[in-house]
Amino acid sequence: MSRTRSSSSVSPLRVHARPARFPGNLIIEVTVNSKTFYIETFGCQMNAHDSEKVVGTLLTQGYTQVETPAAAELVLYNTCSIRDKAEQKVFHRLQQFKRDAGKGKIFGVLGCVAQQEGERIFEKAPHVSLVAGSASYTRLPEMLVQLEAGNGRVTGLSLDTDETFDTPFTRRDNPHRAYITIIEGCDKSCAYCVVPFTRGPERSRTSESVLAEARRLAESGYSEIQLLGQNVNSYRDPSATGWDFAQLLARVGEIPGIRRVRFTTSHPRDFVKEIIDAIDANPVLCNHVHLPVQSGSSSVLKAMERLYTRDEYMRRIEWMKQARRPIAITTDIIVGFPGETEKDFADTLNLLDQVEYDSLFSFKYSPRPNTAALAMDDHIPEEEKTRRIMIVQEKQRAIQIRKNSVLVGAVEEVLVEGRNQALGQWIGRTSQNRTLNFQHPETSESLLGTYLPVRVTRAGPNSLVGESLAVN
Ligand code: SAM
Ligand code: SF4
Repeated sequence: MSRTRSSSSVSPLRVHARPARFPGNLIIEVTVNSKTFYIETFGCQMNAHDSEKVVGTLLTQGYTQVETPAAAELVLYNTCSIRDKAEQKVFHRLQQFKRDAGKGKIFGVLGCVAQQEGERIFEKAPHVSLVAGSASYTRLPEMLVQLEAGNGRVTGLSLDTDETFDTPFTRRDNPHRAYITIIEGCDKSCAYCVVPFTRGPERSRTSESVLAEARRLAESGYSEIQLLGQNVNSYRDPSATGWDFAQLLARVGEIPGIRRVRFTTSHPRDFVKEIIDAIDANPVLCNHVHLPVQSGSSSVLKAMERLYTRDEYMRRIEWMKQARRPIAITTDIIVGFPGETEKDFADTLNLLDQVEYDSLFSFKYSPRPNTAALAMDDHIPEEEKTRRIMIVQEKQRAIQIRKNSVLVGAVEEVLVEGRNQALGQWIGRTSQNRTLNFQHPETSESLLGTYLPVRVTRAGPNSLVGESLAVN
C-alpha cells in the first residue's frame, strides 16, 4: 500500500456504526497503523455472504473497514451482473472516484462483473488494479500482497477450483442469522442467465463441513441459519454419505441451538416432495419456500430452457398447499422475455391468481452477454416490458393485501431483528419470512435476537403490525 507511515502514527479511535438494522449499536475500534478498506456489495445473498468472507479475510490481513470510499485506501465493489442495470451501477461508481486513483487509493472489482468482464475492466476503468471473481477469494491474501507491492493489474479469474467453501475468516454482518453456502455455481442453462458463466459449474460442499460450520455458529450464539446456493435442490454430498438436499436440510434442523433454518434458491425441476416432508416434520425448518417460476406460460418456459412445464410447477405448489404447516410461497417473475405474447403474459397473470404468492420479485428481461436469449427474435420493446411489470406488481399487491389481512388476530413467533426508533417499533420476522413490526415496552437492545410471540393487529401489502404478547 502506498500509505505513508510515521513512527508516531497511532491512528485515532475509530468509531463506526453497524448497519441501520441495529441503530445505536456502535463498534469502537482502536487501530494501530492499519490499512483501510471500504466495500460496497451489489446483488443477491450469495454476494452479501461473499462480502462477509472478503471482509473477514481483510481484517485478518491487518485492514480496518471504514464507512466511506473517501476514507479508504482500498475501495472494493462486489458486483452483480444479473441485469444490465446492476452492471452499469458499478461502472458509474468507478467513474465517480476516477480522479482519486494514484492518490494512494486502490480500486478493486470483485464478483460477477469481474468474472464476466475479466481483464476488459482494466481497459474500461484503467484506475482499477484488482479484478477477481468469487471462486478466487481464498487467494485474496496473496492478491493483497501483489497490490501492496504496487502491481496495478492483479487478477483472480479462474473458475477451476473446489476451494470456494473454506473461508475461516468470515466476518458476519448479522449477529443472529448466518449464511452458509452449501453449493456453488450452476449447471442449468437458463437462456437469459449469466450465472453459469460468472460462478462456474456446480460444486457441492461436504455435509460434514456444512454441519460442522452450523454447529460452530450455534455454539457462538447464532440461532438462524440460511443455506445458500443458486440451486440448493441439486445439492449432492460429494462424500460417502451422498445425502441429497432434503437429507442435509433435516440434519441442519436437528442441531441444538438452531431455532430457524431457511434456504434459497430452489429450482422447480429439482424440487422434491421430501423437502416439504422435512419442513412438515420439524418446525425449526421455516415454513417458507422461494420457488422461482419466471413465467406462467409453458411455451415461454420452454424457450427459457427452464426444464419444467407450468403443470409440473403447479404439482410442486400443490405439495406445499397440502402440507400440514402453512407454507408461504414466494417467486421470481421475468416479464418481456423474447417472444412473450399477450397470451403468454396473460398466463403469467392467471398463474399469480392460481398460486396466490405471499410475495414476489419481478424483473424486466435484460439481455445479457453470452446467453442464448440474446440471439432470439422478437425482443420486446422497453415500454411494453414496463407496462407488463406494472400490471404484475399491481396484481400482486392486491393479492398480498388480501393474504396479509387474513393474518390479523393471529399470533406469530418473531425473531427480533431491529428497531425503528422513529416509529418506536421493533422489527421482527416470522417463520414465513414476513416482516412484523410491533410494540413492546422494552427499548434497550436486549430484545434483539430474541424470539417473541406477537399478535398481528394490522396488515399492509408488504408487512404486518402487532403487539408483543410477552408483556401481557
Ligand atoms: N438460481 C435462481 C433460480 O434459478 O431461480 C435465481 C438466480 S438469479 C440471481 C435471481 C433472479 O434474477 C432469477 O430468478 C430471475 O428471475 C432474475 N434474472 C436472472 N437473469 C435475468 C435477466 N437476464 N433478466 C431479468 N431477470 C433475470
Ligand atoms: Fe441462472 Fe437458471 Fe442457474 Fe438459476 S438455475 S442460476 S436462473 S442458470
